[in-house]
Amino acid sequence: MASPLQPARGTHDLIGEGFRRHQAVIDTARRIAALYGFEEWATPIFEDTRVFARGLGDTSDVVSKEMYSFEDRGGESVTLRPENTAGVCRALVSNGLTQSNLPRKVFYAGPMFRYERPQKGRYRQFHQIGIEVLGAAEPLADAEVIACGWQIQQALGIEEGTILEINTLGDAASREAYRAALVTYFTGHADQLSPDSRIRLEKNPLRILDSKDAGDRALMAEAPTIHSHLTAEAAAFYETVKRHLAAFGVPFRENPRIVRGLDYYSHTAFEFVTERLGAQGTVMAGGRYNGLVEEMGGPPTPSVGWAAGIERLAMLVETAGLTPAAPRAVAVLPTGEAAEAAAIEVLQFLRARGVVAEIAYRGNLKRRMERANRIGAAAAVLVGAAEAGPGEVVLRNLDAGTQAVLPLGNVTAALVEMGLFEAAARAT
Ligand code: ATP
Ligand code: MG
Repeated sequence: MASPLQPARGTHDLIGEGFRRHQAVIDTARRIAALYGFEEWATPIFEDTRVFARGLGDTSDVVSKEMYSFEDRGGESVTLRPENTAGVCRALVSNGLTQSNLPRKVFYAGPMFRYERPQKGRYRQFHQIGIEVLGAAEPLADAEVIACGWQIQQALGIEEGTILEINTLGDAASREAYRAALVTYFTGHADQLSPDSRIRLEKNPLRILDSKDAGDRALMAEAPTIHSHLTAEAAAFYETVKRHLAAFGVPFRENPRIVRGLDYYSHTAFEFVTERLGAQGTVMAGGRYNGLVEEMGGPPTPSVGWAAGIERLAMLVETAGLTPAAPRAVAVLPTGEAAEAAAIEVLQFLRARGVVAEIAYRGNLKRRMERANRIGAAAAVLVGAAEAGPGEVVLRNLDAGTQAVLPLGNVTAALVEMGLFEAAARAT
């Protein structure tokens, strides 16, 4: 036999509990985002490389070394999306949605791809949920976007393990003044900077604040913060965001060290961080970006949003002991092959009423009952048993070990009575 193939480095399969946690994160986020009026979009997993790398000035880690870019057979440079904000902004422009019905409120969920060194909580194919409010310049939008992210974590039951940290990056004038102050500070310590950050000092000194290098981080502790360089407008914007956050009831702390990796961010920047996941402590990150839609060829469209790593949220769900249970089935058991046709009718009767129903494909009653126990079935319906008359089945509660003969039409009601199937109650 050939040696078994493994998943590609940095990728992972979602199976069983892992899949259920993953799906619970998506389902919960989708439900809460809908409550806030977000509509779901799905954009392509690969895009023209220019959607992500827009010009020579882009020196973010993602663009400079993490992108999965390749030439397709027609010689076009395409890239597996490393994030979805650019794709959503591109879609807004491509679909001619930049003028009407703004703001657009978009939710998405799906796989992202970055060529990173894999470790716990860091993969090459990972998944994100995210929301974007496109075309709203008001600080209320920033606060609502954050509140929605917070409520998703509450609904998942993990909010006690995370804390919101916020900062402002100011407006263009604030950033220009701050940039100058940073250049002065870091130039004075250039010999202590990591090689990557020495390049950042030339190209975009703000990104040094995003460095994970221990030496860089030590330097940052003494670096100036943006707060003494904010214009009056930028300071007022930030104050309003914080006031609205309080009104939404979202607890936060300020962290002047938060910056975003990409140039088009301004004003609000935030992260939900946790101490429960070791080095990969950021679960949700976002901020305001006022230039991105323009970079896609659209009109100026002030926007704000966040993205969250589904794997990291799912790990918090696991740590909190909140992994959803698999739905329990009702096993339909024909007493023998002769009863299979009748059993199929029962199966479809139950499924039509929202009951999870399974049938073992072979074996005598005993073998099929073993299978029912193995899959953790909550109940069994025996079809063709001697004690059951025409139109009747035997319903066995596999937890209690009790059983009753009853007309098929009464089975769903009996399942509800046993406390097993809410879905059945709703469907009938
Ligand atoms: P990090 O600092 O951890 O590299 P980032 O700044 O690159 O994060 P963003 O681009 O802001 O991350 O993405 C938002 C969220 O997506 C992160 O907070 C994290 O939860 C998740 N994420 C980012 N990269 C990965 C990855 N390689 N594997 C798993 N999750 C990831
Ligand atoms: Mg990263």
